[in-house]
Amino acid sequence: MTKFSDQFSGLSRRKFIVTAGASALGSILLKGCLGNPPEPTTNTSAGGASPSVVTTTPNEKRVEGIETTKITLGYIPIVESAPLIIAQEKGFFAKYGMTEVTVAKQANWGSARDNIEIGSAGGGIDGGQWQMPMPYMISQGLITKNKDGLPMYVLAQLNTQGNGIAIAAKHEGKGIGLKLSQGGHDYIKDLAKAGTPFKAAYTFPKANQDLWIRYWLAANNINPDADVSLLTVPAAQTVANMKTGSMDGFSTGDPWPLRIVKEKIGFMSALTAQIWKGHPEEYLAIRSDWVDKHPKATEAILAALIEAQQWCDKPEHRAELVAIVSGKSFFDVPPEILNPPYQGKYIMGDNQPEINDLKMGPLYWHDGIGNVSYPYKSHDLWFLTESVRWGFLPTKTLTDHKTIIDKVNREDIWKKAAKLAGVTAADIPASTSRGIEKFFDGKEFHPDKPEDYIKSLAIKKV
Ligand code: CA
Repeated sequence: MTKFSDQFSGLSRRKFIVTAGASALGSILLKGCLGNPPEPTTNTSAGGASPSVVTTTPNEKRVEGIETTKITLGYIPIVESAPLIIAQEKGFFAKYGMTEVTVAKQANWGSARDNIEIGSAGGGIDGGQWQMPMPYMISQGLITKNKDGLPMYVLAQLNTQGNGIAIAAKHEGKGIGLKLSQGGHDYIKDLAKAGTPFKAAYTFPKANQDLWIRYWLAANNINPDADVSLLTVPAAQTVANMKTGSMDGFSTGDPWPLRIVKEKIGFMSALTAQIWKGHPEEYLAIRSDWVDKHPKATEAILAALIEAQQWCDKPEHRAELVAIVSGKSFFDVPPEILNPPYQGKYIMGDNQPEINDLKMGPLYWHDGIGNVSYPYKSHDLWFLTESVRWGFLPTKTLTDHKTIIDKVNREDIWKKAAKLAGVTAADIPASTSRGIEKFFDGKEFHPDKPEDYIKSLAIKKV
Protein backbone atom coordinates (compact mmCIF):
# COMPACT_ATOMS: atom_id res chain seq x y z
CA MET A 1 0.00 0.00 0.00
CA THR A 2 2.88 2.33 0.68
CA LYS A 3 4.01 1.66 -2.83
CA PHE A 4 0.55 2.59 -4.03
CA SER A 5 0.76 5.79 -2.10
CA ASP A 6 4.19 6.64 -3.54
CA GLN A 7 2.84 5.90 -6.95
CA PHE A 8 -0.06 8.19 -6.26
CA SER A 9 2.03 11.14 -5.17
CA GLY A 10 3.98 10.66 -8.37
CA LEU A 11 0.74 10.89 -10.30
CA SER A 12 -0.37 13.80 -8.27
CA ARG A 13 2.81 15.69 -9.09
CA ARG A 14 2.50 14.74 -12.72
CA LYS A 15 -1.01 16.05 -12.77
CA PHE A 16 0.12 19.51 -11.82
CA ILE A 17 2.88 19.56 -14.36
CA VAL A 18 0.25 19.37 -17.07
CA THR A 19 -1.42 22.67 -17.85
CA ALA A 20 -4.53 24.07 -16.23
CA GLY A 21 -6.85 22.11 -18.47
CA ALA A 22 -5.40 18.82 -17.19
CA SER A 23 -5.27 15.95 -19.61
CA ALA A 24 -8.16 13.53 -19.79
CA LEU A 25 -5.74 10.77 -18.88
CA GLY A 26 -4.58 12.60 -15.75
CA SER A 27 -8.15 13.13 -14.77
CA ILE A 28 -9.07 9.48 -15.19
CA LEU A 29 -6.01 8.30 -13.28
CA LEU A 30 -6.69 10.70 -10.48
CA LYS A 31 -10.29 9.68 -10.21
CA GLY A 32 -9.29 6.05 -9.94
CA CYS A 33 -6.59 6.76 -7.42
CA LEU A 34 -8.74 8.93 -5.21
CA GLY A 35 -10.95 5.90 -4.78
CA ASN A 36 -14.16 7.62 -4.01
CA PRO A 37 -13.60 11.27 -4.82
CA PRO A 38 -16.08 13.86 -3.64
CA GLU A 39 -18.71 14.87 -6.15
CA PRO A 40 -17.57 17.62 -8.51
CA THR A 41 -18.56 20.99 -7.25
CA THR A 42 -18.78 24.30 -8.97
CA ASN A 43 -18.22 27.55 -7.13
CA THR A 44 -19.59 26.85 -3.65
CA SER A 45 -18.34 30.02 -2.01
CA ALA A 46 -21.20 32.25 -1.05
CA GLY A 47 -19.92 35.54 -2.35
CA GLY A 48 -18.35 38.06 0.03
CA ALA A 49 -14.59 37.72 0.51
CA SER A 50 -14.53 34.03 -0.39
CA PRO A 51 -12.21 33.18 -3.24
CA SER A 52 -13.63 32.10 -6.54
CA VAL A 53 -12.99 28.54 -7.61
CA VAL A 54 -11.78 27.46 -11.00
CA THR A 55 -13.10 23.99 -11.67
CA THR A 56 -10.99 22.45 -14.40
CA THR A 57 -11.60 18.76 -13.74
CA PRO A 58 -14.00 17.00 -11.39
CA ASN A 59 -11.14 16.64 -8.88
CA GLU A 60 -9.57 20.03 -9.17
CA LYS A 61 -10.72 23.13 -7.32
CA ARG A 62 -7.79 25.44 -7.62
CA VAL A 63 -8.26 28.77 -5.95
CA GLU A 64 -7.91 31.70 -8.33
CA GLY A 65 -5.22 34.20 -7.44
CA ILE A 66 -3.58 31.88 -4.96
CA GLU A 67 -0.50 33.72 -3.60
CA THR A 68 1.74 30.67 -3.35
CA THR A 69 1.64 26.92 -3.94
CA LYS A 70 4.27 26.23 -1.31
CA ILE A 71 4.23 25.76 2.48
CA THR A 72 6.12 23.62 5.01
CA LEU A 73 3.98 22.08 7.74
CA GLY A 74 5.50 20.24 10.67
CA TYR A 75 4.07 17.09 12.19
CA ILE A 76 4.80 14.61 14.97
CA PRO A 77 4.35 10.90 14.03
CA ILE A 78 1.20 10.24 16.05
CA VAL A 79 -2.42 9.85 14.90
CA GLU A 80 -3.08 13.56 15.30
CA SER A 81 -1.04 14.27 12.16
CA ALA A 82 -2.94 11.86 9.89
CA PRO A 83 -5.08 14.55 8.17
CA LEU A 84 -1.95 16.49 7.16
CA ILE A 85 -0.29 13.38 5.76
CA ILE A 86 -3.47 12.27 3.98
CA ALA A 87 -4.06 15.76 2.53
CA GLN A 88 -0.63 15.44 0.99
CA GLU A 89 -0.62 11.76 -0.02
CA LYS A 90 -4.17 11.61 -1.37
CA GLY A 91 -3.73 14.79 -3.37
CA PHE A 92 -6.15 17.05 -1.50
CA PHE A 93 -3.58 19.85 -1.12
CA ALA A 94 -2.80 19.60 -4.84
CA LYS A 95 -6.50 19.56 -5.68
CA TYR A 96 -6.82 23.07 -4.23
CA GLY A 97 -3.66 24.27 -5.99
CA MET A 98 -1.21 23.75 -3.10
CA THR A 99 1.11 21.62 -5.21
CA GLU A 100 4.30 22.21 -3.22
CA VAL A 101 3.35 21.35 0.35
CA THR A 102 6.03 19.73 2.46
CA VAL A 103 4.89 17.78 5.51
CA ALA A 104 8.01 17.70 7.64
CA LYS A 105 8.48 15.25 10.50
CA GLN A 106 9.60 16.97 13.70
CA ALA A 107 11.90 15.21 16.18
CA ASN A 108 9.81 16.42 19.13
CA TRP A 109 7.64 19.33 20.25
CA GLY A 110 10.64 21.42 21.24
CA SER A 111 12.08 21.18 17.74
CA ALA A 112 8.70 22.06 16.22
CA ARG A 113 8.65 25.14 18.44
CA ASP A 114 12.21 26.07 17.37
CA ASN A 115 11.42 25.42 13.70
CA ILE A 116 8.37 27.67 13.69
CA GLU A 117 10.49 30.51 15.00
CA ILE A 118 13.00 29.92 12.20
CA GLY A 119 10.29 29.72 9.49
CA SER A 120 10.59 27.84 6.20
CA ALA A 121 12.86 30.51 4.68
CA GLY A 122 15.50 29.53 7.24
CA GLY A 123 14.92 25.78 6.87
CA GLY A 124 12.22 25.57 9.54
CA ILE A 125 8.43 25.38 9.19
CA ASP A 126 5.56 27.80 8.52
CA GLY A 127 3.05 25.97 10.68
CA GLY A 128 1.72 22.52 11.41
CA GLN A 129 0.46 20.31 14.21
CA TRP A 130 0.32 21.65 17.75
CA GLN A 131 -0.73 20.58 21.20
CA MET A 132 -2.87 23.27 22.82
CA PRO A 133 -2.23 25.83 24.06
CA MET A 134 1.19 25.91 22.32
CA PRO A 135 0.09 28.38 19.60
CA TYR A 136 -1.00 30.74 22.41
CA MET A 137 2.26 30.25 24.33
CA ILE A 138 4.25 30.87 21.14
CA SER A 139 2.17 33.95 20.29
CA GLN A 140 2.75 35.36 23.76
CA GLY A 141 6.48 34.63 23.81
CA LEU A 142 6.19 32.22 26.75
CA ILE A 143 8.13 29.39 25.12
CA THR A 144 9.98 31.13 22.28
CA LYS A 145 13.54 32.44 22.23
CA ASN A 146 12.11 35.80 21.20
CA LYS A 147 10.26 36.91 24.32
CA ASP A 148 8.10 39.27 22.25
CA GLY A 149 6.51 36.13 20.85
CA LEU A 150 5.64 34.95 17.39
CA PRO A 151 1.97 35.56 16.50
CA MET A 152 0.19 32.43 15.30
CA TYR A 153 -3.30 31.60 14.09
CA VAL A 154 -5.20 28.51 15.19
CA LEU A 155 -7.05 27.41 12.04
CA ALA A 156 -8.51 23.94 12.61
CA GLN A 157 -8.61 21.11 15.06
CA LEU A 158 -6.86 18.04 13.63
CA ASN A 159 -8.48 15.34 15.73
CA THR A 160 -10.20 14.39 18.95
CA GLN A 161 -9.40 11.46 21.28
CA GLY A 162 -6.70 8.85 20.54
CA ASN A 163 -4.78 9.68 23.72
CA GLY A 164 -4.59 8.18 27.18
CA ILE A 165 -2.74 7.44 30.39
CA ALA A 166 -0.35 4.47 30.41
CA ILE A 167 0.98 3.04 33.69
CA ALA A 168 4.08 0.87 34.21
CA ALA A 169 3.39 -2.86 34.46
CA LYS A 170 4.67 -3.12 38.03
CA HIS A 171 1.66 -1.11 39.25
CA GLU A 172 -0.94 -3.43 37.70
CA GLY A 173 -3.51 -4.69 40.18
CA LYS A 174 -3.19 -1.70 42.52
CA GLY A 175 -6.46 -0.09 41.50
CA ILE A 176 -5.07 2.53 39.11
CA GLY A 177 -7.84 2.73 36.50
CA LEU A 178 -9.91 5.59 35.12
CA LYS A 179 -11.34 6.00 38.61
CA LEU A 180 -8.75 5.15 41.25
CA SER A 181 -9.94 2.71 43.90
CA GLN A 182 -9.36 3.79 47.51
CA GLY A 183 -6.45 1.34 47.48
CA GLY A 184 -5.06 2.83 44.26
CA HIS A 185 -5.36 6.33 45.68
CA ASP A 186 -3.60 5.39 48.94
CA TYR A 187 -0.94 3.48 47.00
CA ILE A 188 0.07 6.61 45.05
CA LYS A 189 -0.05 8.76 48.20
CA ASP A 190 2.09 6.22 50.09
CA LEU A 191 4.75 6.26 47.35
CA ALA A 192 5.14 10.01 47.96
CA LYS A 193 5.30 9.53 51.75
CA ALA A 194 8.02 6.90 51.25
CA GLY A 195 10.09 9.46 49.31
CA THR A 196 9.66 7.58 46.02
CA PRO A 197 6.85 9.56 44.40
CA PHE A 198 4.98 8.15 41.42
CA LYS A 199 6.79 9.60 38.39
CA ALA A 200 4.76 10.43 35.31
CA ALA A 201 5.81 12.02 32.04
CA TYR A 202 4.44 14.07 29.22
CA THR A 203 6.22 15.15 26.04
CA PHE A 204 5.86 18.93 26.43
CA PRO A 205 5.06 20.90 29.59
CA LYS A 206 1.86 22.91 30.10
CA ALA A 207 0.20 21.43 26.99
CA ASN A 208 -2.43 18.72 26.30
CA GLN A 209 -0.66 15.69 27.74
CA ASP A 210 0.36 17.57 30.88
CA LEU A 211 -3.21 18.83 31.22
CA TRP A 212 -4.81 15.39 30.67
CA ILE A 213 -2.72 13.65 33.33
CA ARG A 214 -3.27 16.54 35.74
CA TYR A 215 -7.03 16.49 35.17
CA TRP A 216 -7.20 12.71 35.71
CA LEU A 217 -5.04 12.77 38.88
CA ALA A 218 -6.87 15.73 40.43
CA ALA A 219 -10.28 14.21 39.65
CA ASN A 220 -9.04 11.18 41.60
CA ASN A 221 -8.04 13.37 44.55
CA ILE A 222 -4.32 13.22 43.83
CA ASN A 223 -2.59 16.62 43.75
CA PRO A 224 -0.36 16.61 40.66
CA ASP A 225 1.88 19.29 42.18
CA ALA A 226 2.32 17.64 45.59
CA ASP A 227 1.53 13.91 45.49
CA VAL A 228 3.39 12.83 42.33
CA SER A 229 6.37 13.92 40.27
CA LEU A 230 5.50 15.14 36.76
CA LEU A 231 8.20 15.79 34.20
CA THR A 232 8.90 16.25 30.48
CA VAL A 233 10.44 13.23 28.75
CA PRO A 234 10.48 12.41 25.00
CA ALA A 235 8.09 9.54 24.15
CA ALA A 236 10.75 6.94 23.26
CA GLN A 237 12.76 7.67 26.37
CA THR A 238 9.70 7.38 28.61
CA VAL A 239 8.97 3.92 27.25
CA ALA A 240 12.60 2.88 27.82
CA ASN A 241 12.40 4.23 31.36
CA MET A 242 9.11 2.41 31.99
CA LYS A 243 10.84 -0.80 30.89
CA THR A 244 13.64 -0.35 33.39
CA GLY A 245 11.20 0.65 36.11
CA SER A 246 12.31 4.24 36.56
CA MET A 247 9.10 5.74 35.10
CA ASP A 248 5.63 5.00 36.50
CA GLY A 249 3.24 6.67 34.09
CA PHE A 250 2.99 8.37 30.73
CA SER A 251 0.38 10.64 29.22
CA THR A 252 0.49 9.57 25.61
CA GLY A 253 -1.17 9.23 22.23
CA ASP A 254 -1.68 6.46 19.65
CA PRO A 255 0.25 4.49 18.49
CA TRP A 256 2.13 4.46 21.84
CA PRO A 257 -0.59 2.95 24.06
CA LEU A 258 -0.78 -0.29 22.08
CA ARG A 259 3.01 -0.54 21.82
CA ILE A 260 3.25 -0.23 25.60
CA VAL A 261 0.62 -2.96 26.08
CA LYS A 262 1.99 -5.28 23.35
CA GLU A 263 5.54 -5.04 24.65
CA LYS A 264 4.19 -5.66 28.18
CA ILE A 265 5.83 -2.47 29.41
CA GLY A 266 2.66 -1.25 30.98
CA PHE A 267 -1.12 -1.04 30.79
CA MET A 268 -3.72 1.51 29.79
CA SER A 269 -5.34 3.11 32.78
CA ALA A 270 -7.61 5.62 31.06
CA LEU A 271 -8.40 6.95 27.61
CA THR A 272 -8.85 10.65 27.12
CA ALA A 273 -12.12 9.69 25.38
CA GLN A 274 -13.26 8.37 28.77
CA ILE A 275 -12.03 11.43 30.66
CA TRP A 276 -13.79 13.83 28.29
CA LYS A 277 -15.66 12.44 25.30
CA GLY A 278 -14.95 14.40 22.12
CA HIS A 279 -12.39 16.57 23.90
CA PRO A 280 -10.27 19.09 22.00
CA GLU A 281 -6.91 17.53 21.11
CA GLU A 282 -4.38 18.84 18.59
CA TYR A 283 -4.62 21.68 16.07
CA LEU A 284 -3.35 23.13 12.82
CA ALA A 285 -1.78 26.50 13.50
CA ILE A 286 0.31 28.62 11.13
CA ARG A 287 2.41 31.73 11.65
CA SER A 288 0.17 34.80 11.41
CA ASP A 289 2.63 36.58 9.08
CA TRP A 290 2.38 33.65 6.64
CA VAL A 291 -1.43 33.62 6.73
CA ASP A 292 -1.74 37.41 6.42
CA LYS A 293 0.51 37.31 3.36
CA HIS A 294 -1.23 34.27 1.81
CA PRO A 295 -4.95 34.43 2.69
CA LYS A 296 -6.15 32.46 -0.37
CA ALA A 297 -3.46 29.81 0.02
CA THR A 298 -4.53 29.45 3.66
CA GLU A 299 -8.12 28.81 2.59
CA ALA A 300 -6.88 26.28 0.05
CA ILE A 301 -4.85 24.47 2.74
CA LEU A 302 -7.83 24.42 5.08
CA ALA A 303 -10.26 23.21 2.41
CA ALA A 304 -7.82 20.37 1.63
CA LEU A 305 -7.44 19.56 5.31
CA ILE A 306 -11.21 19.46 5.77
CA GLU A 307 -11.55 16.99 2.88
CA ALA A 308 -8.71 14.92 4.31
CA GLN A 309 -10.41 14.84 7.71
CA GLN A 310 -13.68 13.71 6.16
CA TRP A 311 -11.73 11.02 4.30
CA CYS A 312 -9.87 9.87 7.45
CA ASP A 313 -13.08 9.56 9.42
CA LYS A 314 -14.71 7.02 7.10
CA PRO A 315 -14.38 3.47 8.50
CA GLU A 316 -13.93 2.12 4.96
CA HIS A 317 -10.78 4.26 4.55
CA ARG A 318 -9.11 3.24 7.78
CA ALA A 319 -7.14 0.30 6.31
CA GLU A 320 -5.64 2.54 3.62
CA LEU A 321 -5.08 5.31 6.16
CA VAL A 322 -3.06 2.89 8.31
CA ALA A 323 -1.12 1.65 5.27
CA ILE A 324 -0.13 5.21 4.39
CA VAL A 325 0.72 6.69 7.80
CA SER A 326 2.53 3.60 9.09
CA GLY A 327 4.94 3.84 6.12
CA LYS A 328 8.68 4.44 6.46
CA SER A 329 8.50 8.09 5.51
CA PHE A 330 5.82 8.83 8.11
CA PHE A 331 5.28 6.98 11.43
CA ASP A 332 7.52 4.05 10.45
CA VAL A 333 5.64 1.54 12.66
CA PRO A 334 4.16 -1.89 11.89
CA PRO A 335 0.57 -1.38 10.65
CA GLU A 336 -0.66 -3.91 13.27
CA ILE A 337 0.09 -1.31 15.94
CA LEU A 338 -2.26 1.22 14.34
CA ASN A 339 -5.14 -1.00 13.27
CA PRO A 340 -6.71 -1.57 16.72
CA PRO A 341 -6.84 2.09 17.84
CA TYR A 342 -8.24 3.03 14.44
CA GLN A 343 -11.04 0.54 15.08
CA GLY A 344 -11.53 1.91 18.59
CA LYS A 345 -10.10 -1.25 20.18
CA TYR A 346 -8.17 -0.79 23.40
CA ILE A 347 -7.00 -3.37 25.91
CA MET A 348 -7.43 -1.65 29.24
CA GLY A 349 -5.47 -2.65 32.33
CA ASP A 350 -6.29 -3.19 35.98
CA ASN A 351 -9.33 -5.39 35.35
CA GLN A 352 -11.11 -2.77 33.28
CA PRO A 353 -13.15 -4.10 30.35
CA GLU A 354 -11.76 -3.94 26.83
CA ILE A 355 -13.02 -1.10 24.68
CA ASN A 356 -14.32 -1.92 21.22
CA ASP A 357 -16.07 1.13 19.82
CA LEU A 358 -14.97 3.09 16.77
CA LYS A 359 -16.26 6.25 18.43
CA MET A 360 -13.74 5.84 21.29
CA GLY A 361 -10.72 5.95 18.97
CA PRO A 362 -9.20 8.92 17.15
CA LEU A 363 -11.83 10.88 15.19
CA TYR A 364 -11.35 13.56 12.57
CA TRP A 365 -14.72 14.89 11.44
CA HIS A 366 -17.75 13.71 13.43
CA ASP A 367 -17.63 12.83 17.12
CA GLY A 368 -21.36 12.95 17.78
CA ILE A 369 -21.01 16.19 19.76
CA GLY A 370 -19.83 18.87 17.37
CA ASN A 371 -17.59 19.32 14.38
CA VAL A 372 -14.11 17.90 15.03
CA SER A 373 -12.30 20.11 12.51
CA TYR A 374 -13.88 23.42 13.51
CA PRO A 375 -11.74 25.30 16.06
CA TYR A 376 -14.29 26.22 18.74
CA LYS A 377 -13.26 29.31 20.68
CA SER A 378 -14.87 27.70 23.75
CA HIS A 379 -12.23 24.96 23.59
CA ASP A 380 -9.39 27.47 23.40
CA LEU A 381 -10.96 29.06 26.47
CA TRP A 382 -10.91 25.72 28.31
CA PHE A 383 -7.17 25.38 27.63
CA LEU A 384 -6.55 28.90 28.90
CA THR A 385 -8.77 28.28 31.94
CA GLU A 386 -7.04 24.99 32.75
CA SER A 387 -3.67 26.78 32.38
CA VAL A 388 -4.85 29.37 34.91
CA ARG A 389 -6.01 26.53 37.18
CA TRP A 390 -2.46 25.15 37.37
CA GLY A 391 -0.74 28.52 37.59
CA PHE A 392 0.73 28.32 34.07
CA LEU A 393 -0.99 31.54 33.04
CA PRO A 394 -1.93 34.55 35.19
CA THR A 395 -5.53 34.82 36.43
CA LYS A 396 -6.04 38.00 34.40
CA THR A 397 -6.02 35.71 31.34
CA LEU A 398 -9.66 34.98 32.19
CA THR A 399 -10.63 38.66 32.33
CA ASP A 400 -8.91 39.24 28.98
CA HIS A 401 -9.79 35.93 27.36
CA LYS A 402 -11.90 37.35 24.56
CA THR A 403 -9.13 39.64 23.32
CA ILE A 404 -6.50 36.90 23.66
CA ILE A 405 -8.56 34.28 21.80
CA ASP A 406 -9.81 36.61 19.06
CA LYS A 407 -6.19 37.41 18.19
CA VAL A 408 -5.20 33.76 17.74
CA ASN A 409 -8.30 31.77 16.80
CA ARG A 410 -9.30 32.27 13.15
CA GLU A 411 -12.47 30.21 12.97
CA ASP A 412 -13.64 32.77 10.40
CA ILE A 413 -11.09 31.43 7.89
CA TRP A 414 -12.16 27.85 8.67
CA LYS A 415 -15.76 28.75 7.83
CA LYS A 416 -14.80 30.23 4.46
CA ALA A 417 -12.68 27.18 3.67
CA ALA A 418 -15.50 24.85 4.68
CA LYS A 419 -17.73 26.49 2.06
CA LEU A 420 -14.95 26.12 -0.48
CA ALA A 421 -14.72 22.41 0.37
CA GLY A 422 -18.47 22.06 -0.13
CA VAL A 423 -19.26 21.36 3.54
CA THR A 424 -23.01 21.47 4.05
CA ALA A 425 -24.43 24.26 6.21
CA ALA A 426 -25.53 21.63 8.77
CA ASP A 427 -21.88 20.71 9.34
CA ILE A 428 -20.70 24.30 9.86
CA PRO A 429 -21.16 25.24 13.53
CA ALA A 430 -23.40 28.24 14.07
CA SER A 431 -21.69 29.23 17.32
CA THR A 432 -18.04 29.57 18.34
CA SER A 433 -19.02 27.81 21.57
CA ARG A 434 -19.68 24.06 21.66
CA GLY A 435 -21.62 24.69 24.84
CA ILE A 436 -21.33 22.98 28.22
CA GLU A 437 -18.56 20.39 28.41
CA LYS A 438 -18.88 17.34 30.69
CA PHE A 439 -16.06 15.38 32.33
CA PHE A 440 -15.91 11.84 33.72
CA ASP A 441 -15.93 13.04 37.33
CA GLY A 442 -19.21 14.91 36.87
CA LYS A 443 -17.59 18.35 36.57
CA GLU A 444 -18.82 20.77 33.93
CA PHE A 445 -17.21 23.62 32.03
CA HIS A 446 -19.61 26.41 31.09
CA PRO A 447 -17.74 28.52 28.52
CA ASP A 448 -19.54 31.66 29.65
CA LYS A 449 -18.43 31.11 33.28
CA PRO A 450 -14.81 29.92 33.31
CA GLU A 451 -14.27 31.29 36.84
CA ASP A 452 -17.09 29.08 38.17
CA TYR A 453 -15.40 26.03 36.65
CA ILE A 454 -12.18 26.79 38.54
CA LYS A 455 -14.19 27.41 41.72
CA SER A 456 -15.86 24.00 41.33
CA LEU A 457 -12.52 22.16 41.34
CA ALA A 458 -11.07 21.05 44.67
CA ILE A 459 -7.45 20.67 43.55
CA LYS A 460 -5.85 23.67 41.80
CA LYS A 461 -3.01 26.12 42.20
CA VAL A 462 -5.06 29.33 42.21
CA1 CA B 1 -1.96 14.29 21.66
